[in-house]
Amino acid sequence: MRPLIVIGNWKMNGSPDSNQDWIKTVARGMESGMPSGRKFAVCPPFPFLSQCAALIKEHSLAFLSLGAQDASAHISGAYTGEVAASMLKEMACQYVIVGHSERRQFHQEVDEVVAAKALQVLDAGMTPVICVGETSDERNSGRAIEVVCGQIAKQVTVLQDRLVDCLIAYEPVWAIGTGKVASAQVAQDMHHAIRQQLGEFNEDVASHVGILYGGSVKSDNAVELFAMPDIDGGLVGGASLNPQEFLAICKA
Ligand code: PEP
Repeated sequence: MRPLIVIGNWKMNGSPDSNQDWIKTVARGMESGMPSGRKFAVCPPFPFLSQCAALIKEHSLAFLSLGAQDASAHISGAYTGEVAASMLKEMACQYVIVGHSERRQFHQEVDEVVAAKALQVLDAGMTPVICVGETSDERNSGRAIEVVCGQIAKQVTVLQDRLVDCLIAYEPVWAIGTGKVASAQVAQDMHHAIRQQLGEFNEDVASHVGILYGGSVKSDNAVELFAMPDIDGGLVGGASLNPQEFLAICKA
């Protein structure tokens, strides 16, 4: 049985004060317990990782893990501005998002780089959250499954059986930050296609890998999405900035 996982991606948001309020509110909301078989994580910007790790510890927040929004494709060295996966592990991160569509769009990240980052994250002992998804043009021209399965194929080539230790996040680009959530059936169809493609490579990977949905997830659409057989939780951007909304999605 795959666990349900909800991961908040704060993107380039947060401040020392608002981070403190967020963790305090989530700690209060989680203290009465959370549904079993679920995992939760939050991915603040790099400069706030240390503060958030300390706050999670201070509030004994056993239900909440820490994650990062990116990692370098390199181990160490002359890569100004980059952060190595091993450094994120030192900061108590358990998850690292790689290949988010905003990285692909604004930083020209291609599938090969995404796979190299995922390898670094695995080697450092954390779980990569590998994002894939099609644009609205690709969907409107009937190529959504072909595009996403092409992205997955590149990950399979590099990561092989190690994909079983990764999470995949299906995030249609047209749904990210737009309020246009994919219907539960559209998302389920894509998750099923991804799992089927992985199954052609390795049945064990296909049945064990968690596939999260991302793109305008909110508390009022999470229940229907998370009830789908191939949807194992969500990667939540904008809505995760509000701690009450994040809690409501975690409990959905
Ligand atoms: C994201 O940033 O991964 C995301 C899914 O954003 P949003 O929930 O705001 O659409």
